[in-house]
Amino acid sequence: MEIRKATGLVLHSRQSGEADVLARILTGEFGKTNFVFKGLKKSKNRPLSAGEPGTVLHLMYYQHDNRDFQVVNEFRIVRHRLDLRDDLGRILHLYFMLEVVDRTTGHGDPQNRVYSLATAAIDALAESVHHFHLSAFFLIHLLRFHGVLPDLERCRMCGRTDFRSFTLDTPDFMPVCERCLASRPGGRATLDLTAREFVSAALGVRFPSLDCERFDAGAIFSLLFHLTLFVESYFHCEIKSKGMLFSGL
Ligand SMILES: [Zn+2]
Repeated sequence: MEIRKATGLVLHSRQSGEADVLARILTGEFGKTNFVFKGLKKSKNRPLSAGEPGTVLHLMYYQHDNRDFQVVNEFRIVRHRLDLRDDLGRILHLYFMLEVVDRTTGHGDPQNRVYSLATAAIDALAESVHHFHLSAFFLIHLLRFHGVLPDLERCRMCGRTDFRSFTLDTPDFMPVCERCLASRPGGRATLDLTAREFVSAALGVRFPSLDCERFDAGAIFSLLFHLTLFVESYFHCEIKSKGMLFSGL
């Protein structure tokens, strides 16, 4: 048994029994960990928002390696996300980003960079009106941290780099240029140059410095959709929140 202090981001939570809240939290120090907040639902002096997805909090707990859930002894909220609650678009993107983090990280691996990326992206969600650009930016960097960002520079079939329209081929999601695509049977959804330009711009700056107006919203919507399919295929998971996100709201 070891006493631990950590700062974490709530990815997912649910009520358990009368008053307990179970939460999956990504901490920078110890990675993803399951916690239980005992009696939180009935507590008069402890804020319920501690267990809300998106909340960032300092935690103190005793690590028991043989337990599925670590009991939170003390916590202090660093940031809650009540400011996002009034906007359905923001909520959908919040849940989408949290779910992607949850599905692409293992339990107990330190994830400092992913933790910092996710908290910064959620902070930006409150400020920005370009939610799809932000989620695409977030996915691009997340895939980069995981070492699996597809290289969109060259066509995987002919190697050229000057193509404008392309598709992301399954299962490796390497780009296939319009010329190579024409030689194949069957129609496929294609992305245009904007998607490649966005990826390269996103890799060069922090999100607040990215000029989102330069990149057509429809193109970014398609890019985000394709990147999400890639995440699902690579990590063998289903991102459930994508249904709402891409339903055209
Ligand atoms: Zn080609």
